[in-house]
Amino acid sequence: MKYLDEYRDPELARTLIESLRRRRFDRDARLMEICGTHTVAIFRSGLRQLLPARIQLISGPGCPVCVTANEDIDRSVWLAQQPGVTITTFGDLLRVPGSSSSLHVERSKGADVRIVYGSLDAVRIAREHPDRQVVFVGIGFETTAPTVAAAVRTAAAQGLENFSVFSAHKLLPPAMRALLEAEDLKINGFICPGHVSTVIGACAYQEVVDNYRIPCVVTGFEPLDLLQGIGMLVEQIESGKAEVANQYRRAVSWEGNVAARRLIDEIFEPVDCTWRGLGVIPRSGLRIRERWREFDAGSRFSMPAIQVREHAGCRCGEVLRGVMTPPECGLFRKVCTPQDPKGPCMVSSEGTCGAYYRFS
Ligand code: SF4
Repeated sequence: MKYLDEYRDPELARTLIESLRRRRFDRDARLMEICGTHTVAIFRSGLRQLLPARIQLISGPGCPVCVTANEDIDRSVWLAQQPGVTITTFGDLLRVPGSSSSLHVERSKGADVRIVYGSLDAVRIAREHPDRQVVFVGIGFETTAPTVAAAVRTAAAQGLENFSVFSAHKLLPPAMRALLEAEDLKINGFICPGHVSTVIGACAYQEVVDNYRIPCVVTGFEPLDLLQGIGMLVEQIESGKAEVANQYRRAVSWEGNVAARRLIDEIFEPVDCTWRGLGVIPRSGLRIRERWREFDAGSRFSMPAIQVREHAGCRCGEVLRGVMTPPECGLFRKVCTPQDPKGPCMVSSEGTCGAYYRFS
């Protein structure tokens, strides 16, 4: 298939792996991927086993469902429990356990919780059910935020008074800074996410490179993309360089999607935000601006203070920071499985624990 097969060519893959094996490393290359799609692609293609031992791939906080904090799950659950409220969101979020319930459990008890494939579906549901308050629980990084911003604009244009967004959106570059400032993790390079970078552009990583001298390579998702991206990172590490490089030029430009970023800026503003495993990161979340507050579920509903309780034994926080692998968690495979997940990293199709379970 055009545009796929050429990035999966086994001969070329062998050549790239051989060239990585021939390199003379004088230090380990600890490379972090910060995109759940990369995590799954790396497992699916078996790259970890093929790389030289000194190249270590570490999975970071790239799965949007996984990094959603318990308190945000709890608030979504509270919203689902309110009479007359319909919750709409992406499927993966339903089974993520909060402190004492999940959207899936609430739905089984009779709450109106619906899976949608995009935020405009939620707007349609609001239009079709004027008697219900329809809340879209928005999770995801800079890739999904423009679509949710467009949904808010659409709802405003249609004069909908029963549509709002509970925004748990997050921004990736602040999380990269937080990881680099953590004392328990040593990273030599970032495999930067292809999807997010289509919006924020390769330029978004320049500040990380300038301030922390860490090589950043925007990388695609096919095996040859990944091997080439890893090679570009290793080259920089060997030569002591730290630059932003773009392996995924067929999709990502230096400046990104300016129109999409403008749309995000119009509807949202940055706000301090809690990430699972990383705590509160300054200006790493997106809140709906005052001008659009009628579409902000946080303003429309008076939410009570939430008593957050973490799950005993679940080590998702450490997995998300890359300081621990899923098999090191005592619950992995024994009591935590995709059928009965104890934490979000096992629930999500892009979660690191789920990827280890399926592919290792
Ligand atoms: Fe949490 Fe399960 Fe992963 Fe352990 S294996 S960290 S319990 S999701």
